Amino acid sequence: MNPVTEVPRRLTILGSTGSIGTNTLDVIAQLGGRDSFEILALTGNGNIDLLAAQARATGARLAVTADESQYIALKDALSGSGVDVAAGRTGLDEAARLDADWVMAAIVGTAGLAPTLAAAARGADIALANKECLVSAGDLFVQAVRDGGGRLIPVDSEHSAIFQCLDDHQRHALERIVLTASGGPFRAFSREQMAGVTAHTARTHPNWSMGLKISIGSASMFNKALEMIEAKHLFDVRPDQIEVIVHPQSIVHSMVGYTDGSVIAQLGSPDMRTAIGYALTYPQRPSLNVERLDFAKLARLDFEAPDEVRFPALRLARTALTRGGLQGAVMNAAEETAFTAFVEERIGFLDMADIVETVMDGLCGIGAASTIADVFAADDEARRQALDAIATRRSA
Ligand code: NAD
Ligand code: MG
Repeated sequence: MNPVTEVPRRLTILGSTGSIGTNTLDVIAQLGGRDSFEILALTGNGNIDLLAAQARATGARLAVTADESQYIALKDALSGSGVDVAAGRTGLDEAARLDADWVMAAIVGTAGLAPTLAAAARGADIALANKECLVSAGDLFVQAVRDGGGRLIPVDSEHSAIFQCLDDHQRHALERIVLTASGGPFRAFSREQMAGVTAHTARTHPNWSMGLKISIGSASMFNKALEMIEAKHLFDVRPDQIEVIVHPQSIVHSMVGYTDGSVIAQLGSPDMRTAIGYALTYPQRPSLNVERLDFAKLARLDFEAPDEVRFPALRLARTALTRGGLQGAVMNAAEETAFTAFVEERIGFLDMADIVETVMDGLCGIGAASTIADVFAADDEARRQALDAIATRRSA
């Protein structure tokens, strides 16, 4: 068993059946599983068999499916196990409110915002994979965690890297943060080539194994765009202090530059379990069975400037950062809607950025949020306008 002490003992995983969720359970198993931790709640959506198997294996107190129509199936799958079952939004809320010390926020999309906020409000430490919480709700989300009294620990590999490189004692000397981007499967594609790609080719990432949404977002660089906004809120930096550099090997996970010219980087294999383990045992480091870097075999690390013409998502992120306020929520909601339309083959790959830009421009005067309700209202309106833009495009 791992000799880690003072790590949180009671854990909840929102989104346990996804890519981050299953990696989180793997890390927990590596660190002693049921001997070291108590799993309070696990949540999923449609994959009932996996959710039930995870709940049985971990002895979770509660298993929740976000999909209400799956409630009976989940109840049947867990009959006799002693695991409580719930469904829908109220079920997610119940999961978030159980008194776990540490909550992994690994639901995909805006659906993760309400339960993560509920966990933050009662003071849990939040291991944040769901970048959409910060992109949509920004400072309100950070404030909610602060008010609750828990810690916000990034899990996104770039932000975990920056978190690991940032020295609080030298905040005054922080000059810039540099987010690395693999460039995705279409790094060398022309716009003409990108115009014809399908969701199937777009989801094949060269280095990382991830969920569908983030894989497509890596191909379009919308994932990096969301990460720029995520970084602004996490690290309280100005937009001009956020740089993006394409690094095809995904070995340097991100960097921090200081006023003396020093750059501190965090390196590792492209394996999310390192960032998840760090978030679980912070400020300590766990001992994990992940592949070690062999520098002699690596031989080289490449870097190149991102192309904002072929990847307009990065330009749109800068626009959202400059406009501030609810533009992050608008961009995120429009992108989620456009992503769904692309996966359902209702629009092409390049249409995604056009639709997001149309919606952002249409809502550029939207202002800032005073409450979370404002965030949900902006999210709804952006989705409505994105659907209009998609319908217009299809009838053109
Ligand atoms: P995924 O699609 O593999 O899993 C998503 C999880 O959310 C699943 O448990 C699913 O059941 C649940 N879910 C889906 N729709 C839901 C809904 N409407 N309501 C409630 N639950 C729902 O996604 P993932 O790749 O694990 O990503 C999860 C989050 O972590 C995303 O915000 C993503 O950007 C972020 N992230 C992922 C990675 C990665 O390597 N996969 C890396 C960095 C950040
Ligand atoms: Mg990332």
